[in-house]
Order: sequence, then C-alpha cells, then structure tokens
Amino acid sequence: MGNHGDVTSRLPSDLPAELRRIVGDRHVLEDAEVLSGFTHDWTGRVVGDTAAVVRPGSAEEVAAVLAACAQHGHAVVPQGGNTGLVAGSVAFDGAITLSTARLTAVHEVDTLSATVRAEAGAPLAAVQAAAHASGSTFGVDLAARGTATVGGMVATNAGGLHVIRHGPMREQLMGVRAARSNGDLIGALRPLAKDNTGYHWPSILCGSEGTLAVVTDVLLRLVPSAEDVAVALFAFATAHEAITAAALVRRAFADVNAIELVTDAGVALVCASLDVPPPFATPAPYLLLVEGAGTPGVVERLADVAASLEGVLDSAVAVDPEPRAALWRYREAHTESIARLGPVHKLDVTLPLSGLASFIEDVRAVVTDLRPDAAVWLFGHAGDGNVHVNVTGVAPDDEDVDRVVLELVAQRDGSISAEHGIGRAKLAYLRLNRTAAEIDAMRAVKRALDPAGILNPGVLLPAG
Ligand SMILES: Cc1cc2nc3c(=O)[nH]c(=O)nc-3n(C[C@H](O)[C@H](O)[C@H](O)COP(=O)(O)OP(=O)(O)OC[C@H]3O[C@@H](n4cnc5c(N)ncnc54)[C@H](O)[C@@H]3O)c2cc1C
Repeated sequence: MGNHGDVTSRLPSDLPAELRRIVGDRHVLEDAEVLSGFTHDWTGRVVGDTAAVVRPGSAEEVAAVLAACAQHGHAVVPQGGNTGLVAGSVAFDGAITLSTARLTAVHEVDTLSATVRAEAGAPLAAVQAAAHASGSTFGVDLAARGTATVGGMVATNAGGLHVIRHGPMREQLMGVRAARSNGDLIGALRPLAKDNTGYHWPSILCGSEGTLAVVTDVLLRLVPSAEDVAVALFAFATAHEAITAAALVRRAFADVNAIELVTDAGVALVCASLDVPPPFATPAPYLLLVEGAGTPGVVERLADVAASLEGVLDSAVAVDPEPRAALWRYREAHTESIARLGPVHKLDVTLPLSGLASFIEDVRAVVTDLRPDAAVWLFGHAGDGNVHVNVTGVAPDDEDVDRVVLELVAQRDGSISAEHGIGRAKLAYLRLNRTAAEIDAMRAVKRALDPAGILNPGVLLPAG
C-alpha cells in the first residue's frame, strides 16, 4: 500500500503555499523520507500514503488549515501520537496528515474545580504529571502514556486500565474545543459541572475518530489521589474461576482500581521479551491482576477479599511502588512483546461478563481451526468484560481471521470494539454491531459537522 513517490505534485497547485502561509514554512513537511515516519501505523499491519504533514501551532491555525483543505476538497487525517490500533491515524491516497505535535501545552491545574486544560497534542503522561504535582490524579491510564495524546484519546474514547473505577475518556471530558472543516471553532473549556445548553460537544466528539472535527483543546476532570495503593496477582486453573473471581472483586472491593487478565502464554512471552523471572514457580493458565487504591488500609481490605476468592492456586502482593510496577509489567508489556513477533491482528472486544469465560476458551479454537499456525494471545481489562484477542503467525491481510473472531463476538452479544475504535481495520465489521438505520444517522451527523467530507474519509463510516 505504501507509495511515497513525487508526493508534493499530488496537492492542488496553490494549497502548499496557502498551508505554509498559515503554519509557517517549517511546519509543512513534504520530504518523502520524513513523511514515511507518519504513514506507518503502530501495529505494523498498514502503511499509508500522505501528500504532506502539516503541524499547526494553535487552534486558530488548525481551523485555517482545515478551511483551506476544504476549499480544495483535499482530505485531512488528524494524527496525535499515532498509537491507535485500528489504522485510523495514518493518511491514505495522498490525504494531508494534520499532526498535533506542536499543540502540547498543559495549563496549570485548577484545584478548586479539580480540572486541567491541555492542548490536544499533549501526551497523556504530561497530563498525569501535572495532575500529580497538584496532588490529584487523572482517571485514565494506558501503557502508551508517553506517546498517546489527549486529543487522540478523546477521538478514540480511550479506556485503559482504570475504566472500572473512573470510566473511559468520555467521563473525564468536561469541555472540548474543536475545529470544523469549514474553519469554525466550536465548544468551550469552562469548568462547569452542569451545562444543559443543548448538544454536548464532549459527548459527540468523544469516539468520533477524527471524522467530525479536529480536537484542539480539552478540559479534563481530575480525581483525588489515593493515599494507599496495593497490587495483587492471583493464579487460576480456568478462565471461569478467574472471571468469577473478577466479578467478586468488583462487587466486594470498594477500592478496586483495575482488574486485568493475562494467560500463561502471554506471561511467558513477556518474561522472555523483558528477560524477567516468572511471577510464580509453577505457571498457571490464567492470572488476575487486581489493583486497589484508596484511603489507608487498602492492602488489608484487599487481603479480606482475597480470602473469599475460590480456586486461587498462587498469589503475590505488592505495596511499594517498585514491586507494584514489577507485577504490572506482566500485564503492561503484553502489547509491545506481542508486537515484536511481527504484524499483529488486534481484536479488542467486550463480552457480557456472563459469557466472557466461555468466549476466552472458544475463541482460540475458532482461530486455530481456521489457521492452525496462528498464535492467539489473550489479555485485557477483565473487570470490564474487555479482552484483547491478538493473533500472530498469519498474513497481515488475512481478513478471515478478523471475521471469524468478530462474528463470534457479535453472536454472543458483545462489542467488536471495546476501546480502540473502528478505524479502517474494523470498518467492514461495523454492521455486526450497528443497524443500517444507525449507520445512516451517523452519516447524517458527519454531513452536518463536516459538510466538505474531508475529515478522515474511509475511517469509522463505511461508504454509503
Ligand atoms: C502499548 C499500547 C497500549 C495501549 N493501551 C490502550 C488501552 O489500554 N486502552 C485504549 O483505549 N487504548 C490503548 N491503546 C491505543 C491508543 O493508545 C489509544 O487509541 C489512544 O487514544 C490513541 O491516541 P493517539 O494520540 O496515539 O492517537 P492517534 O493514534 O494519533 O489517532 C487515533 C485516532 O484519533 C484521531 N485523532 C488523533 N488526534 C486527534 C485530534 N486532535 N482530533 C481529532 N481526531 C484525532 C486520529 O485521526 C485517529 O482516528 C494502546 C496502544 C498502545 C501502542
């Protein structure tokens, strides 16, 4: 799919000069080698094709860039950290990549309203650091925190490790400002807990995957920092026991901050990849990582809950930051360790908790019946019913693998995208979860906000 030939000649003749006038010469990139840094997606499954990368330095410049591109009918793909996992962040067919790399300001925390304002390109880690410095915490965390941007996280409604406690990005987004393709800036960044003045832009733009408008600034809610944190790892023989335990922890442990599931194969891969020892002398088929955070006494309350779990083969607990991080590594290093095996089919799905254990058992067979050489890696946010089905050892364009997994999910009343979005990777499967009438309504929203139809074409919405 890659094609970085004579890219500049593919832009309408006066558009490059107009873009340079708006953002400055240095911020319109057209060199083929430089562009290739923006066209490879994180999974290694797709390579796009962009005519230019434009890096605006303010919300007004974003709006002006969009208006110029709309006048020429030239497609634009917003790109933040490019850590998205559904091929939504790379441009195709010579579309312009609008990079938020220069929009990285994180403003002072407003401690009275417990909010922080940031520009769209600010990395999650910078927002977390600002929150931490003010004695509070940002409620969303994920392993790509150093690179993923808050704008990209709004666009994908990112979930992550603490959804069970604080909800996904949508629940943290108090205000948003965004540029439409007609050059208008919409939204507000006022710290108002209540504001029923009509359509709610944070709700509409969260999860819109860059198809409606380009997020330029966000106002994010913060939560109080925990005084005490503890992490435990529990080993189980069956998925059913692990998921039953997850449900009990969720019910009985008010401090619960995360419940993550990993398997023996994934942990062995992480250990080999990081050269670290395994958590337990005897490998167990399923491991549940539980994090609690709250007022002093978390570890005691966690021990009480642990005593009531059935089927625990082994356990480990950590209270201090370093041993906690060591336990987390068994979970967090999955994505990167699997990526080292080659292109990965990443299928991020949610099942009703009642069907999660049987899905975990059946999905392996469904994939290996189809492709006996495939390796299936299962891990995820078990407390939310969210499992990441990663498949390696099959061709990057082997769509049959994706199809059989997603059809199984839909048959069992699950969601074909728990938190990564639809992008291009799942476009063909949106109909498994959404009716024709719903897709029609989504297209109507798209037409209303982006009448020129230039924002991220080919992402999220199948061609009409
Ligand atoms: C190691 C690893 C772990 C991960 N863990 C999780 C996890 O636990 N939970 C989770 O939900 N995701 C996870 N992800 C996926 C990814 O980090 C998220 O989807 C994240 O929200 C993407 O942010 P980004 O800035 O990289 O966006 P990009 O990848 O650049 O873009 C993602 C989408 O958002 C659009 N977009 C980007 N910026 C803007 C903007 N300013 N305005 C409008 N649209 C925009 C793009 O066009 C694209 O459609 C993980 C990824 C990796 C590599």
